[in-house]
Amino acid sequence: MQDPMLTIKSPGRINLIGEHIDYNGGEVMPAAIDLGILLKLNVNDSNTCNIHSVDYEDTFSIDLEEVVPSEIEWHNYFLGVIYFIQQKLPGSIKGFDCTIESNLPIGSGMSSSAALECGIAKGLDGLFDLGLTNLDIITIARDAEHHFVGTKCGIMDQFAVVNGKKGHFMKLNCQTLEVEYVKADLDPYELLLLNTNVEHSLATSEYNKRRSECEQGLHLINAQGYDFKDVAHIPHSIIDENKHRLPVKTFNRMKFVLEENQRTAMANNALLNNDLQALGWCIYGSHEGLKNLYEVSCEELDFLVDFTRVDDTVLGARMMGGGFGGCTLNIIRKNKKDDFIDQISKAYFKKFKTDLTAYTVKIGDGVRNLK
Ligand code: ADP
Ligand code: MG
Repeated sequence: MQDPMLTIKSPGRINLIGEHIDYNGGEVMPAAIDLGILLKLNVNDSNTCNIHSVDYEDTFSIDLEEVVPSEIEWHNYFLGVIYFIQQKLPGSIKGFDCTIESNLPIGSGMSSSAALECGIAKGLDGLFDLGLTNLDIITIARDAEHHFVGTKCGIMDQFAVVNGKKGHFMKLNCQTLEVEYVKADLDPYELLLLNTNVEHSLATSEYNKRRSECEQGLHLINAQGYDFKDVAHIPHSIIDENKHRLPVKTFNRMKFVLEENQRTAMANNALLNNDLQALGWCIYGSHEGLKNLYEVSCEELDFLVDFTRVDDTVLGARMMGGGFGGCTLNIIRKNKKDDFIDQISKAYFKKFKTDLTAYTVKIGDGVRNLK
């Protein structure tokens, strides 16, 4: 590729706490990270877009006259973003060449998907001077994931990828999209991700199923004469009173949503008061809820979380992201980290015959135009 006209850095994200509650109108605490996808773009004076993934060693082309979903999953992130920009601003996109290269693990809960969608949306905005706002980019990316990829995700991933700020978590209200930046001051601890390196095939179907279970629960409660907009805002007492009307699993899903939303508020307070012990308890509590009530964990994730409970090296650990594989998030004492990684890697390999990958997390800025 000739020298790119435009280079975009689009980060992955973590989520401290508030899992699976963005699509339930709850509060979440994500942050962008310093790992991400680099996108290099050039206009090409044609009606065709040529996309190359260095990581997949694969190239494909899009005819701008015919932007429809593809059988090949990764193509859909590009097709979807182009489609929704064309809907919003017809005729605005011309042919371009784009190369992507990533140092984010793919399919591990660090949201390489949102990094890709938001990265290409930001790139096209710069290349064709579209005047998109951050919220436009977030919405276009989310719509692409819903309608072209087929994951009915919430808004958190795209929001964090676009609006991340170095050294800060975002306390994001997913109903109003109000955000407060909270300093990520964890010293003498830091954040460590442990990637199980497994991705169970259930991930997408069960994600969409959890979403519809929550919608069903909301519908059943509202049928009693209420008008709640989302599960996170239903009082505990109302869910308890209506327990007999709800399928057991639906009741458990809703219970989890309310408890997780409370845990996010508690974790935020703990962080503001520099009470890291309390933050750790919230994080362990989140894992228990995700495992037992929301049922999105798996043996490998549970093993990694349980392993941390032996001493005070780790203050809190939980699965992060959609579940059924991917990473655990750990708050770990810095000076004990190396020994801990060594021990847990050996134990994990012994049990699952799979290597673990460890990432020390640095919180970075949101998607940026580097050139
Ligand atoms: P996560 O967002 O947790 O990484 P997802 O399953 O939501 O996991 O998204 C991963 C998908 O995003 C991949 O299967 C692929 O389709 C696409 N993707 C991510 N990074 C790349 C890349 N570097 N090249 C091509 N496709 C990618
Ligand atoms: Mg994703």
